[in-house]
Amino acid sequence: MALLGVSGGGIAGMAAALAASRAGHDVVLFARPADQPFAGGLQIAPNGWAALTRLGIAEAAEACSLRLNNITVRALDSGATLIHLPLAQHYASFSRNALFGMLNDAVGARASLTRVPCNLTHIDQPPAGSLSVIDETGTRHHLDGLIAADGGDGPGKQHVTSGQRGADMGAKLAMRAQIPLHSLPAHFALPASQLWLGRGVHVVHYPIGDDLNLVATLPASRARADWQQTVMPATSPLAVLGDPAINWARTSISSAFTSPCWRRGSVVLAGDAAHSMPPHLAQGAGQGLQDAASLLAWLDGTDNIDTAFAGYARERATDVSRIVQKADISGRIMAMSGPVARLRDLALNLGGPRLMQSWLAEVWAADPRLV
Ligand SMILES: Cc1cc2nc3c(=O)[nH]c(=O)nc-3n(C[C@H](O)[C@H](O)[C@H](O)COP(=O)(O)OP(=O)(O)OC[C@H]3O[C@@H](n4cnc5c(N)ncnc54)[C@H](O)[C@@H]3O)c2cc1C
Repeated sequence: MALLGVSGGGIAGMAAALAASRAGHDVVLFARPADQPFAGGLQIAPNGWAALTRLGIAEAAEACSLRLNNITVRALDSGATLIHLPLAQHYASFSRNALFGMLNDAVGARASLTRVPCNLTHIDQPPAGSLSVIDETGTRHHLDGLIAADGGDGPGKQHVTSGQRGADMGAKLAMRAQIPLHSLPAHFALPASQLWLGRGVHVVHYPIGDDLNLVATLPASRARADWQQTVMPATSPLAVLGDPAINWARTSISSAFTSPCWRRGSVVLAGDAAHSMPPHLAQGAGQGLQDAASLLAWLDGTDNIDTAFAGYARERATDVSRIVQKADISGRIMAMSGPVARLRDLALNLGGPRLMQSWLAEVWAADPRLV
């Protein structure tokens, strides 16, 4: 049994801590409690569900999520349906709050898992010495290995990749809102993920509990005070969402990045620390869950942490790079404008669900080690 540290209390950090604990190791999770509630929602696709199953929390996840039965792609100007993809495999939406609460409960239930409620300030891995980390109180913790899931700007990524970043995507913004379903027409409550493709902009919505989760993606240059009315004008089928009373939060969209190297000595990356991707395939958190499930498979019953980390890093770096690439390409397709966008809509309509299914098959395929 080894003593493993995990930094970061996001989805990937909590899932990785759970994985390392279930693999039979003692775990210290360095994570500050969230200081504000997590707004908005997430979709978890079949590959994320395979990971949740492997982590032993699929039942708890089902209880706090909403199963969606189709993905519909529509034209934002006309409302025409371009693709209607029925979902045979498990695909569901969560409020972020509910997913965090569920993971937090699962972490809290593990006797071999201790939570240290502070951030790491330093990772110390001298060439001929053993690994230790220093937290923000100045306390040094000696570890056999560290899973750094502390996000795109955390110390883990800095330590392993020397601060490499993705190429600039040209400043895209996600405008996010959460609106009570009772204030909207009934069709917004349908258990479906709806993607509306416009000209240079797109809108995604799906229900989470009693609310509608809403994300509009647009170039930063179009995010003027009246952006809702330009993206969802009175003539648009989404006009009701152009209401200026809706409170939107703006988030910069991550550029596509996956480190070619996920490991440095006894430190490995997981979650957004290893792979940041634009949210166009709804895969960031799902891939973080898959990282955790893969860690569980590699760490299970072994004390040889360096070998387990090496296997995990090699396997996941290869698999995730393709997903990141596809998320990037999907974003470029969704961002098309002018006559090219018209051609895109035509092609999607002609290709239909089969085209979408073949694009997503690799993304949603569960890691064979997890099933
Ligand atoms: C608009 C939008 C929509 C999205 N939709 C989806 C979706 O539908 N499905 C999906 O799968 N994904 C989606 N994503 C992506 C998803 O939200 C992220 O990939 C996921 O939340 C990343 O989780 P993480 O734990 O890896 O990183 P983070 O959430 O960034 O967590 C990192 C944690 O590390 C902590 N930390 C930082 N520094 C330190 C330190 N020094 N010491 C200790 N801890 C530290 C931070 O406080 C934070 O808690 C979406 C993203 C966006 C922006």
